[in-house]
Amino acid sequence: MKTSLAVWKFASCDGCQLTLLDCEDELLPLTERITIAHFLEADSSTVEGPYDVSLVEGSVTTEADVARIGRIRENSKVLVSIGACATAGGVQALRNLGDINEFASIVYARPDYIDTLATSTPIASHVEVDYELHGCPIDKGQLLEFLGALLTGRKPRLPAHSVCFECKASGTTCLMVAEGRPCLGPVTRAGCGAICPRYSRGCFGCFGPAPGANTPALRHQLTQLGMPAVHQDRVLRTFTPEAYDDAST
Ligand code: SF4
Ligand code: SF4
Repeated sequence: MKTSLAVWKFASCDGCQLTLLDCEDELLPLTERITIAHFLEADSSTVEGPYDVSLVEGSVTTEADVARIGRIRENSKVLVSIGACATAGGVQALRNLGDINEFASIVYARPDYIDTLATSTPIASHVEVDYELHGCPIDKGQLLEFLGALLTGRKPRLPAHSVCFECKASGTTCLMVAEGRPCLGPVTRAGCGAICPRYSRGCFGCFGPAPGANTPALRHQLTQLGMPAVHQDRVLRTFTPEAYDDAST
């Protein structure tokens, strides 16, 4: 019997769902094992739950979201948060640092039409989550490894180390040590294959903090490289605004 898969969207840009559609060569083989039961980005037809696996993109930003994620949890054997929005509130969690009414008055012509919570929160703040895939967007290779693990009944390999490990594994020269350029690789969760440093660009933290990240040590290094503290706060908070405990402002 095939595994039924549902894909859900909350406050997000759809980029993580598109990663699933980007699996062009792998999608047909996958559908031999998986029934895509609900995935509005791909097909408006939908099959009633319950579902074996739900992939949830986006953060919770309205009262309606709170109720809907509860229903999805009840209808899903395995629930997986995908992407920085779903795992950490995403870019829209920058609202958590200020006054949502002030933001709305600047952005919208009729802010009185806006009905939203004051915060953008991860899925795990509302329901139990079985797994999390990080990134903005998630990584295609990691998604396929994850789905393959679920289908074969083994534990998925979700790295709990930093991007630096992936640079070392791929033989990529360290941008900070060799070229004196800022990079968040030492404190950022692995999973992307260190794609930015491989293209000579410092990591900017889209996978969020790695477990045990030594952010004070990285800050010291960034200061040595001439980056002011306020810029450090901004770069640390870009994708996962509340995830770094020691961001100071
Ligand atoms: S994590 Fe990034 S790519 Fe994924 S939905 Fe959120 S903003 Fe889009
Ligand atoms: S290197 Fe850093 S910024 Fe680039 S994709 Fe990986 S985690 Fe994201």
